Amino acid sequence: MTGSPIPPWVITDQRAQLITVGPWWPAVTVPEDWGVLMAEALAGASGPAFHEPGLRYLVYLVPGQAEGWPDAEAAGVSVVRAGDPLLVPHVDGTFVGLQRFHWLASLMKPLASPARLREAIEATVGPLEHAGGKGPVRVCCECGSPTRAAVLVDVFVPMSSSPREWYACAACWNRWQRGQKARHLRAVPGAAAQ
Ligand SMILES: [Zn+2]
Repeated sequence: MTGSPIPPWVITDQRAQLITVGPWWPAVTVPEDWGVLMAEALAGASGPAFHEPGLRYLVYLVPGQAEGWPDAEAAGVSVVRAGDPLLVPHVDGTFVGLQRFHWLASLMKPLASPARLREAIEATVGPLEHAGGKGPVRVCCECGSPTRAAVLVDVFVPMSSSPREWYACAACWNRWQRGQKARHLRAVPGAAAQ
C-alpha cells in the first residue's frame, strides 16, 4: 500500500543537490576513462551509481563505513565518507554544460557490494593496496588499454570543466613513432556472433 521508501540518495525536488554524506553509505569514485572498463567487470551489479561529467568520474554508493579501502588516490580511486560533500544528480538526471549528469543504474537497487566493486576495480587497474606508490592509470586513446606507462598525446581545455587529456600506451606510442599508425586487433564484447 505504501510502496518502497525512497532511499536518501534520491533527489526529487531539485535538478542536482550538494549533500553531506551521511553515516550509512559512503561513496567510491573512480575516473570515468577506466571506470567504464570496470563497469563491464561489475556486470550490472553496481547498485546505485552515477556519472559526474564535470569532474569526469563515476560514483558508486556502498553500504557500511568504507572500512578496509586503502589509500588509492594515486590510481584515482577516492572514498567520499560521512560528513564529506557530494553533488548528487536529480532522479531523472540533469545536464552539466552539454553533458548529462545522471544515474547509471536504478536507484532502488541494493547498494553495491564493496567486495564486488573492489574486485571490479582491481580487475582493471590492479591491486589497490599497492596503488599508492604508482602513478595514475590512463586509458590508451588508440587501443583502449588501461596503462600506467602512458604518453600524453593531446589536451583540450573546455570552458566549463576540467581539461581533457588523451594518452597513448607505450606500444601504440612506439608504433606511431615508427610511422605505423594502425589499430590493435582487439575483441569487441558482443560482436563475435555477428
Ligand atoms: Zn594502445
